[in-house]
Amino acid sequence: MYVAISISEEDVALIMGRRFQKAYPDALQSAHCPRCRKVDNATITVDQLWLNPAGDVLVEGKCEHCGGPLDKLIETGVEPRQYDQAMAIREYKIEVSKDYEVKR
Ligand SMILES: [Zn+2]
Repeated sequence: MYVAISISEEDVALIMGRRFQKAYPDALQSAHCPRCRKVDNATITVDQLWLNPAGDVLVEGKCEHCGGPLDKLIETGVEPRQYDQAMAIREYKIEVSKDYEVKR
């Protein structure tokens, strides 16, 4: 299935491992808001997290400042350990728990 599937913050923590505590909030605080003209300096209020087929996490949400729609890609899939963990979560959700939504 070449789709992005919904994941939880706990799944992101599993994927990122010990990098989660710093790298995740850093990512949420470095979005680009075209309305506020904040380049890589806007904070996202998270609505939904997605895991794409490349093992990257896509954060979908709103700008904390203006409420405009924002998203941010966290390139977790570039690191082999994170990629393997992401693939394990995808496989589990798709094959076993079937507890996910597909991003349209
Ligand atoms: Zn904004």
